[in-house]
Amino acid sequence: MKKIVFFLAAILSLAACKQGAEKKYISIQEIDSTKKPGDNFFLYINNKWFDTAVIPASQSGVGAYMFMNYPQRLRLQGILDSVSKAATPTGSIEQQLGDFYAAGMDTATINKRGYDPVKPLFSKIDSIHNVASLMQFVANGCKANIGSVLSFAVGPDNKNSSLNIAHIYQTGIGMPERDYYLKTDAASVAIQAAYRKYLTTLFVLTGSDSVAAIKNSALVYGIENQIAASHKTNIELRDVNANYNKMPVAVLVKRHPNIGWLNVLNGLGAKTDSIDVAQTAYYDKLNVLLTSIPINDWKMYLKFKVLTAYANQLSRPFADAEFGYNKVLQGQAVQKARGEIIADAVDQLLGEALGQFYVKKYFTEDARKRALELVNNLQKAFAVRIDHLDWMSDSTKQKAKDKLFAITKKIGYPAKWKDYKNVHIESNRYFENTVSAASNNYQYQLEKLGKPVDRSEWFTTPSTVTAYYNPSANEIVFPAAILQSPYFDDAADDALNYGGIGIVIGHEMTHAFDDQGAQFDKDGNVKNWWTKDDYARFKTKTQQVVDLYSSFTVLDTMHVKGALTLGENTADIGGVSIAYDAFKMTPQGKDTTRIDGFTPDQRFCISIARIWRVKMKDEFLRFWINNNPHSPPTWRVNGPLMNMPYFHKAFNIKPGDKMYVAEKDRIKIW
Ligand SMILES: [Zn+2]
Repeated sequence: MKKIVFFLAAILSLAACKQGAEKKYISIQEIDSTKKPGDNFFLYINNKWFDTAVIPASQSGVGAYMFMNYPQRLRLQGILDSVSKAATPTGSIEQQLGDFYAAGMDTATINKRGYDPVKPLFSKIDSIHNVASLMQFVANGCKANIGSVLSFAVGPDNKNSSLNIAHIYQTGIGMPERDYYLKTDAASVAIQAAYRKYLTTLFVLTGSDSVAAIKNSALVYGIENQIAASHKTNIELRDVNANYNKMPVAVLVKRHPNIGWLNVLNGLGAKTDSIDVAQTAYYDKLNVLLTSIPINDWKMYLKFKVLTAYANQLSRPFADAEFGYNKVLQGQAVQKARGEIIADAVDQLLGEALGQFYVKKYFTEDARKRALELVNNLQKAFAVRIDHLDWMSDSTKQKAKDKLFAITKKIGYPAKWKDYKNVHIESNRYFENTVSAASNNYQYQLEKLGKPVDRSEWFTTPSTVTAYYNPSANEIVFPAAILQSPYFDDAADDALNYGGIGIVIGHEMTHAFDDQGAQFDKDGNVKNWWTKDDYARFKTKTQQVVDLYSSFTVLDTMHVKGALTLGENTADIGGVSIAYDAFKMTPQGKDTTRIDGFTPDQRFCISIARIWRVKMKDEFLRFWINNNPHSPPTWRVNGPLMNMPYFHKAFNIKPGDKMYVAEKDRIKIW
């Protein structure tokens, strides 16, 4: 049966290719001729689309990039829907996926259970009588996705990238970042109020009267507020060395007597004699807070953490309460449909089981081959650019090229899939299913501790529209889902593909050489491979990037955070440079024949503006600026292009145009 489906899909995609060859791709009508390309290229290309694009009520935005994950989730839902209706043998991945989905969709059972599923956890919290039993609960919670005051993960040692070690990170707050607690502007105050209301509602839903609920809410918020003060900002978190502090457990035991590290590690099931304490200030503060805050207050805090971890697995009022807060934070008007929420949960918890079905249905080996060809061409173009850099010595250039050619390329989906044989799924136990899957993921991680790094592992699912560079493995990864329009279309001309997925590939490659990546060597270790002078010149150049992007105003008086987005902006500027050079090596790149009225270079630039074509709610834009290390879409297009000679030439950008930058002032790093 499966084979027939697969065969049909292949025929359909062949038909799509044939149609594609006749497709226009870019029409002159979509350009907004009331805008000048040299004033705001992003709007010149996208403004007309903005006029007609409608943000679905359940989403924060619409268009390319992360918002393509909405239609992706609908595809996943389609897969899950059919799997759940088929007869499948118990324990097979079809059964697991189908029953997980069916259980999540069974809202009658979920609503009937109210918050019964977490009552055993509440009893455990009630029996906490001292800091040691508190920390025992915290450590156990990590195994089932209950995030509270400890964030534990297993991953490569930054200074010995072939070995997995234990890492702990700052955590403990419920809003996205420390500044959310500290800011006093109107938008931030509204988010704080919505968050406090969410806390209060959860306490009311679990039996507190309204007076007690308000008191508990204030108490929990007060604890988080104290924790937030010890957090690093998301800009400080970008400092690679300051966020690596591997120390012997024996030292930690003495340093944090209240935390009781031996008790905690035992609870985690982690056997190790050293830990990388990524943010020491947080754990130092936690050690103090554990005794300065009364134990009964901590118990209230833990009850909230349990409820917020599982809000979507409990009855409707809990999910509604969470949505009330998210709505203010990210701007979506109504809740996502249940099917979309559950498809997303399956993707997160059983992602590589679902991913197998996704790639069978939506991915072809041809797409992988074509993408690999593009990656290889970009790599060659990048090497030539390194050779021609006027600010770097020959010895550093050689090391940069060594690193460039050592990059591992992963395209489509993992070579081997994670198995979920220990996950127990039943069709009417949604809460227990999610706990079982979360525990399995935890065990999977724990088993890596102290072992060599498996470089075949993936850190995203094939159906997610994303791409990443992983510095400790010196690898670039492009899941199947990003190999689709507007990023990639096998039937489109090279200008569109090099200005699409080519940009993304160049972007990920440049991450190996951004302000953070440049500190890792070709084997993924934090190790200096630069001469002192070369590194000083590199820092001067990255400062230019910080200054330029900090000058961009996005919303009201909010600017792009130049220091937060430095790595991504450097990658954006590198990406459009490298992809253009690679494009110029193709026959179309060397040609001047117009298609649909546009030259090859113009089409290349237009493609860049279309791959970041996104319309979003103001709330989400605000959320983005505060938290996202990428610049907002407008500046992912205009920021890099205003520094490109080919853009100036292709659209005849002149002094006086807002995007005009004199040749001597253009930023060129890679
Ligand atoms: Zn990036």
